[in-house]
Amino acid sequence: MEFRENEPMAEHTSFRCGGAAAAYCEPADEAALIACVRELHESGRPYFLLGNGTNVLVRDEGYTGTVVSTRNLAAGALLSAVCRQAAERGLCGLEPLSGIPGTLGGAVRMNAGAYGAEIGDFVREVRVYDPQSDKQFVLLNNDCRFGYRASVFQERPWVILDVALSPESGDPAEALAKIREFARRRNEKQPMELPSAGSFFKRPEGDFAARLIEEAGLKGYAVGGAAVSEKHAGFLVNTGGATAADVLAVAAHVKEVVFAKFGILLEEEPVVL
Ligand SMILES: Cc1cc2nc3c(=O)[nH]c(=O)nc-3n(C[C@H](O)[C@H](O)[C@H](O)COP(=O)(O)OP(=O)(O)OC[C@H]3O[C@@H](n4cnc5c(N)ncnc54)[C@H](O)[C@@H]3O)c2cc1C
Repeated sequence: MEFRENEPMAEHTSFRCGGAAAAYCEPADEAALIACVRELHESGRPYFLLGNGTNVLVRDEGYTGTVVSTRNLAAGALLSAVCRQAAERGLCGLEPLSGIPGTLGGAVRMNAGAYGAEIGDFVREVRVYDPQSDKQFVLLNNDCRFGYRASVFQERPWVILDVALSPESGDPAEALAKIREFARRRNEKQPMELPSAGSFFKRPEGDFAARLIEEAGLKGYAVGGAAVSEKHAGFLVNTGGATAADVLAVAAHVKEVVFAKFGILLEEEPVVL
């Protein structure tokens, strides 16, 4: 296995900022990835599984462990490609999720969702590797404990290897038209042209982070190269040359102002590494 040293994580994350990983590797297949994770686990060295890097912010100081790319796993397939290929075969229902830019594994761990649907609604079973027992097993939907942007995978060191979904049967042309419509809505409302990690804050109960941030007058608030998007107040964007510290400073200010004004404590959605 080839390990690259001092790998700039800005190249692997959709925020396009932050420091380097001490080591980085892209195991060629499932067996190589399991062998790699087994070895890292046994040696006690820290490691991080990377999907498509669309919900991760790497601190400027970098990560002292090994980043292991999951791109060559079945669960490393892009959710957008999975949704499109399913639609083409008349396997429908996943269309609202088609614009989420992550992998299947990343989506399952985060229980990613959009437009009233969540990946957890469609998961039939998930095959994982557990480095603690050095075993593989299959979880059924109920075992995954899906909740709002939550799942059992956030509490366990399991590697998601493969995911079986259960879409409904339907008309391919209609499903593809829905995918186009959801993409149009996303492009209209979200700052897709700037690097980000999507909505930066989880939806507080009974409200929307974007509404609170906008009402607090924070649209456009910036520190260095990071800002609250003018187009969608829920997005923090890299307007050019942002550091991870800039992003975190904007996030801290937003949380402080929103809490002072509404008494609501916003919670970050991305994983900060
Ligand atoms: C423009 C934009 C729009 C977005 N829109 C949405 C949206 O509408 N809805 C939404 O929910 N999210 C949205 N997101 C956030 C993000 O795309 C999702 O959270 C996505 O599911 C993350 O997947 P990923 O593969 O990029 O995971 P990563 O960001 O690489 O990783 C996220 C977490 O999952 C873990 N992980 C990844 N793969 C595996 C695996 N195989 N096994 C175990 N753990 C794994 C990582 O260790 C990490 O903890 C958006 C992001 C962007 C940039």
